[in-house]
Amino acid sequence: MRKTPESEVDEIAMPSRRSLLKAGVGLAAAPLVAGLASEAHAEQPGDSGESGPFSVRAHGVTSAGSRVGPLRIERRALGRHDVLLDVLYCGVCHSDIHIARGDWRPPHYPCVPGHEVVGRIAAVGSAVTKFKVGDIGGVGCMVDSCGTCESCAADREQNCLQGATFTYDSNDRVTDGTTYGGYSEKMVVTERFVIRIPPGVDLAATAPLLCAGITTFSPQQHWRLAPGQRLGVVGLGGLGHMAVKLGVARKSEVTVFTTSPGKVSDAARLGAREAVLWSDAAAMKRLAGRFDLLISTVPVAYPMQPFMDLLKLDATLVNVGALGQLEGLNGMALGFGRKSLAGSMIGGIAETQEVIDYCAARNIKADVELVRPDQIDRAWERVRAKDVRYRFVLDLTHETKERT
Ligand code: NAP
Ligand code: ZN
Repeated sequence: MRKTPESEVDEIAMPSRRSLLKAGVGLAAAPLVAGLASEAHAEQPGDSGESGPFSVRAHGVTSAGSRVGPLRIERRALGRHDVLLDVLYCGVCHSDIHIARGDWRPPHYPCVPGHEVVGRIAAVGSAVTKFKVGDIGGVGCMVDSCGTCESCAADREQNCLQGATFTYDSNDRVTDGTTYGGYSEKMVVTERFVIRIPPGVDLAATAPLLCAGITTFSPQQHWRLAPGQRLGVVGLGGLGHMAVKLGVARKSEVTVFTTSPGKVSDAARLGAREAVLWSDAAAMKRLAGRFDLLISTVPVAYPMQPFMDLLKLDATLVNVGALGQLEGLNGMALGFGRKSLAGSMIGGIAETQEVIDYCAARNIKADVELVRPDQIDRAWERVRAKDVRYRFVLDLTHETKERT
């Protein structure tokens, strides 16, 4: 595991001694500091001219069943290549719920989710070239990777052969501790993994592009979705509504497949040509063999063969949703149609910058509903109940203002 040598820790990252954990207590012991939310505020790097990790306010869970509550976590000292972000907005992704609730594997607690982060750069390490203080930066699902394997060399850090470092509940390559996400007032991230946010964009509505946007843009790029081609989007939630907007932007004909009758009119407003209920057997039959690409954003396994039947010869269903065991595929039907089932995981850093710039140039943004930190639990409940239109975004601007 790569550790930051002393020389890599920047003079600029200087939190006061008061904010340091006791000598010898590293990030791995950060759970020990959870729950100390009554402290007035975090120490600001640069406060005192001393170097070291520092404590910040965050919102997270301390067990699979606990409510989302305030706690304190430790951020690493600002390294030469790091930037310090004051978090302004953070989108609420369904993955936040899966991970915090242990749907995929037991996470490290406390778990502070959030990987659709937009913030203002508050400090930069001495070797940082991409940002200056006051710029707006974005952080998506990754904060580091090995940087040398063939995937990283091909700008596919998400497929890093050593495993990318994810923004939260991942092993921090620098400290060997656990990463914490954007449900927090400040983050320290190496500049290579910070996305430039163009001036003038709606910051809250841009945050979801850092996960929901890139995750649905990347397959449309990879499978070369062309104007006039038919795209089917299965599941109209955070990812699904971005898949529709991005598909419409490239002039494909988009059809939404939803389980929610109440979303049919929304699909038209988002630019879809048609919205079909899964239960509409006649429509499913009428549309058989007509799609060039399907993107499935459904968070749980479901019988996929009825959707594979919608594909043309040689076409692909890209599953970005359910990440466990998949269900209900028929080998014979796949073979006769030479159809493919593929998976796709977010996108690389260069491609994430590309989708941010692409959306800024076309005024494409997420449909968002802002929530305060004390409303996260309720927002999670509504996401699970398919009742989000179409991304909750945590508004942390008040916390940041309180600090200044
Ligand atoms: P979301 O906002 O909750 O949207 C999911 C949509 O799926 C729902 O709105 C719903 O749309 C549909 N759905 C159908 N059956 C459902 C069920 N039993 N429970 C819940 N929803 C159901 O979630 P999201 O944030 O878009 O994320 C979708 C999935 O993608 C999650 O599993 C997430 O972990 C995963 N994800 C993957 C990547 C990746 O890189 N591969 C990145 C981000 C997220 P209708 O009402 O239209 O049926
Ligand atoms: Zn996400």
